[in-house]
Amino acid sequence: MLIRVPDYYGDFRCLAGACPHTCCEKWEVVIDEETACRYFEVPGPLGDKLRDAIQADEEGDFCFPLDGGRCPFLDGENLCEIHRTLGEDATSVTCREHPRFIEDYGPFREVTLSASCPAANALLLGTDMPLTFLERETAEPAEEGDEWLPFLLPLRDRMLALLADRTRPLRARLRDFLTLAVKAQEFLDEDQPELLSSLTAENRTQEKHRDGPGLFPYGLRFLGGLEILEPDWPDLLRQAETVPAAAVPETALERIAVYFAFRYLLKAVNDGDLLSRAQMVVFAVLTVERLAVVCGLSEALRRFSCEVEHSDENLDALLRGFWQEEPLSLDTLLKELSTA
Ligand code: SF4
Repeated sequence: MLIRVPDYYGDFRCLAGACPHTCCEKWEVVIDEETACRYFEVPGPLGDKLRDAIQADEEGDFCFPLDGGRCPFLDGENLCEIHRTLGEDATSVTCREHPRFIEDYGPFREVTLSASCPAANALLLGTDMPLTFLERETAEPAEEGDEWLPFLLPLRDRMLALLADRTRPLRARLRDFLTLAVKAQEFLDEDQPELLSSLTAENRTQEKHRDGPGLFPYGLRFLGGLEILEPDWPDLLRQAETVPAAAVPETALERIAVYFAFRYLLKAVNDGDLLSRAQMVVFAVLTVERLAVVCGLSEALRRFSCEVEHSDENLDALLRGFWQEEPLSLDTLLKELSTA
């Protein structure tokens, strides 16, 4: 099977005890069934502690409820007691995979590193070079993919190339990126994915003046109305409402756009919804740019990723919002991109 990863993937190292925002805080860790069964068999005091800590959540999944906002197995040095005593293989799938997002498409697998992790975030924003992706073959057998995949994959390549075209200002690229997604969505809605190949990165937006309010502050208020992971997130969003815009390097914003586009566009094979994911890419870039004035770019991206990418509920609400909420609509995003 072919595995595709961002070009910095091999440089990732977990900061472990030195991590300033350990992933073992604030999130309740779900324990997969196989690992839970293993925990029920562990002897001695650690086994007793595991069995005391494990509970079923509202969905019936096993989990370790947080203790004072921290995983009960996180020790005073921010190291995992299970990992330290029983080895990495004894940790749950969630713990072993984080901060990786793994997507199986059948013929290939794509693995990204969540920008909510400080180490992965630093790699993403640590260079001005265009973000590229590497491929390698493994012995694992490939499976058949969705019938739309051969059409969506080259389209995503063209959309990524469009975002990385540094001969043009980023906002112009983002406008064309959205326009391309609109045209592609029409073909998908008509169940004619084979026509996607007629769309190229050369398609240019017809420039026109757009009236109406921009994306902010509504976009920030919308995020504030979703499930909140960290209690100071609403305050950060409120502060960003009133700050004047400040210049953020386009090369960094471009890398953020490519990170989100790589991760989300191809998911349209599952439900045919390409356009709202393209809107999500633009919304993420503009919101992170706005938040960066308050807390700095890497922290802005980290916080956005935490609150949106790690909550299916929030992600779904945002994708729905692009269709249902006028202040998050395509026109609003295009208007915002037309604003200097
Ligand atoms: S957030 Fe990243 S660097 Fe920090 S403990 Fe988790 S995986 Fe390691």
